[in-house]
Amino acid sequence: MKVADGVQKLIIPMRFNPLGRTYCYLLTDSATLIDTGVPGKDAFAALEKQLAENGVKPSDLKGIILTHLHNDHVGLVNQIKHHSLAKVFAHSSALERLREQAQFHENAYETMTSEIELLGGGNLRQFLSRFEHSFRETPEPTQIDATLEDCEVMRFDDTSIEVLWTPGHAQEHICLYDGGKRILFSGDHVLPKITSHISLHTYQKGDPLADYLASLSKVENLSADLVLPGHEWTFTNLHERVQQLKTHHKVRCDEVKEALRAGERTVYQVSSRISWDSRPWPFMDFWTKRMAAAETYAHLIYLRNRGEVSERVKEKVLYYSLA
Ligand SMILES: [Zn+2]
Repeated sequence: MKVADGVQKLIIPMRFNPLGRTYCYLLTDSATLIDTGVPGKDAFAALEKQLAENGVKPSDLKGIILTHLHNDHVGLVNQIKHHSLAKVFAHSSALERLREQAQFHENAYETMTSEIELLGGGNLRQFLSRFEHSFRETPEPTQIDATLEDCEVMRFDDTSIEVLWTPGHAQEHICLYDGGKRILFSGDHVLPKITSHISLHTYQKGDPLADYLASLSKVENLSADLVLPGHEWTFTNLHERVQQLKTHHKVRCDEVKEALRAGERTVYQVSSRISWDSRPWPFMDFWTKRMAAAETYAHLIYLRNRGEVSERVKEKVLYYSLA
């Protein structure tokens, strides 16, 4: 589907994710793909078919630019590289992310078990133990050939695309801005309706919510008439959408502080008091609760770093209270 001059939107289905699909974008003049979709046969067949509609074979691809390393964006990279000499580009911090992923998979089960305990979800550890075997498999790392830096300009025949490093949803996340065509490829940084998952795990460092809010400011005033995201749909109201996202996180921070008003709480306890968009806490399955807890933890760390919340560890469990 043509979305702009020289830009085709490709739809890659994903079955086990409520988002249903990832969008990749083919820059037709340079045979360059932005993101790839999930791994798997169906996804590759969908990619191949839509490339063919544009007269392109996987072996013709010259480049793949990755907005970030989440599976629904990089899933087909290694498979495409079996067929082509396409050079894979990602932000330089992606290399550190690959190292972190490899380290995590050395001890994934133990790491996740102790995280659940730290976050106050100790009673859920039993559930995780059922999946112990599945954490013993190490996924194949994404192959990256060249790294990109913030503000770097990638030049193609008659197009220039600026790389904007937008950490938050993922530390290595980039948006791609084509000022000539007034287009922003926003990846998962800004989506039209859902709010990007901003999470932190106890085995990760940093303050992703602070990064995310700064990254929102970085794109909010771009002259973009069209935003091409990784999911949902194409949209035009970038500035307004960024305001909404900033407000969302302010409201969420207020909710987190409200949950601490009656006294100190664990991360899981705070999570159970947040009004989640997807479904209420008691109806969430283990994995959704884990994601919600990681999102709550990111907000607590943001508030802790700003002196609004204090943190202590008691018997291997983290507790938060209003400062
Ligand atoms: Zn995504």
